[in-house]
Amino acid sequence: MGRKAGRTLDDRRAEWSARWDEVKPAPFRLAREVVPGLFQVRTRGSRCYLVVEDEITLIDTGNPGSGERILAALKGLGRTPDDIARILITHYHIDHVGGLPEIQKFAPEKTGVHVAEAAHLESDAPLPNPFQHPLLAKVIQPYLLRNDPGRARVDEILRDGDELPALGGLRIVHTPGHTAGHISLYFPNRGVLLVGDSMQYKFGRLMLPSRLFSEDMVEAGASIQKMAQLEFETLVFSHFRPILGGADRRAREFARLLAVQAAG
Ligand SMILES: [Zn+2]
Ligand SMILES: [Zn+2]
Repeated sequence: MGRKAGRTLDDRRAEWSARWDEVKPAPFRLAREVVPGLFQVRTRGSRCYLVVEDEITLIDTGNPGSGERILAALKGLGRTPDDIARILITHYHIDHVGGLPEIQKFAPEKTGVHVAEAAHLESDAPLPNPFQHPLLAKVIQPYLLRNDPGRARVDEILRDGDELPALGGLRIVHTPGHTAGHISLYFPNRGVLLVGDSMQYKFGRLMLPSRLFSEDMVEAGASIQKMAQLEFETLVFSHFRPILGGADRRAREFARLLAVQAAG
């Protein structure tokens, strides 16, 4: 897609960094526009996203206490919670669903999650502990119980391949591994893939999701192979800065590397 010959990866990285610095928010602005119509909001503990059109799609809700920031970001964009048409949740971890009950008070609209995550959200029991190592899980448990957001409502079950009207078409891509019901959101007409926690982007490299909080690393690898078959320019994460150009090529390189490692 419009790739110019003769430029090194470092040139391209510098260009992406410059583009990203351009869209960094002014200190008083809570939302930054990643691509036209898709805004990133820094919540407590992670990032959520707003697709801003006539109607608004909210993607994830941050840790408990993030509701206020999301509402303030909406206000900053000249919009109100009444404009929220749907809330999509990538997965049940507290840094993604913690603000959901707060937001649902203002936005009694459709909250959609994958079927594998729904029971965790709707349950009166605390959210499951995401730590895979028993000792770490034990250490973090009091924090989780103290901060548990409580029960949330699930209005719609999302499945792989479901299409929703946002940014000219939004497709649900089931990407299990980090959690069983993790979903990524694909906007084919805008060349954007929002991967939540199903990939990491650290030190300029794509990586598998963190082993510390991921349920099934083999499935996580398979999900990366699945996402690498899609076409997109831009990759958007819940905890890392986005890749704004040539992202599918990099995802494919990463997927090939994983396949070689798996074979070896
Ligand atoms: Zn997570
Ligand atoms: Zn997360």
